[in-house]
Amino acid sequence: MSEKNIVLLLGANLGDKEETLRNAVIEINEGVGEVVSISHFYETAAWGKEDQPSYYNQVLVCKSSLDPQNLLKTTQNIEQKLGRVRKEKWGARIIDVDILFIEREKISEENLKVPHPFIQERRFTLEPLKEILPHFVHPVLNQTLSDLLLNCKDPLPVKKLSMK
Ligand code: AMP
Repeated sequence: MSEKNIVLLLGANLGDKEETLRNAVIEINEGVGEVVSISHFYETAAWGKEDQPSYYNQVLVCKSSLDPQNLLKTTQNIEQKLGRVRKEKWGARIIDVDILFIEREKISEENLKVPHPFIQERRFTLEPLKEILPHFVHPVLNQTLSDLLLNCKDPLPVKKLSMK
C-alpha cells in the first residue's frame, strides 16, 4: 500500500512531559510509520481551561500506510498505552495525539475530521506546524500555515523550547 504524509500534534501536561513526548514519538515511529520531521517542544498555557499546568506540544510528520480509521485507532491505542486518563473534555491528560493533516485529504466522518478543525484557532498548534511546514497550504482554508499563524487571534502565549 502507498505511504502518505501524516501530520500529528502531540500534547502532554501531566507527569514528565518530555519523557512522555519522547515515548510517544518512539511508539508512533513503530506503530504508525517512520517519523521524517519533528518540531521543537513548545510550552503553552492550557487551552479551554486555564487552571491547569502548562502543556508541552510538538508536531511531527510521519510516513504511514494506515488508512484513516486505522490511523485514529492506532494513535488512540498509543494514548492509552502511555497512560491517558480520559476524565473531562479539555481536562488534564498524560498524552494527547491529534491528526492534523493526512496529505491534502478532507475527511468528515463522525469520529474523524481532517484537517483537524481547530488548527487555525490554536497558536500552540500553528507555532510548531509553521516551524516544520511553513509553506504547506491548508487544503480547506487555502492559506499557508505561516499566514494562518499571522492571522491567529489566540491570545495564549506559546514559548519555543530548545529541546526536541
Ligand atoms: P480529544 O479528547 O480532544 O483528544 O478528542 C478525541 C476525539 O476526537 C476522539 O473521539 C476522536 O474520534 C475525535 N476526533 C475527530 N477528529 C479527530 C482528529 N483529526 N484527530 C484526533 N481525534 C479526532
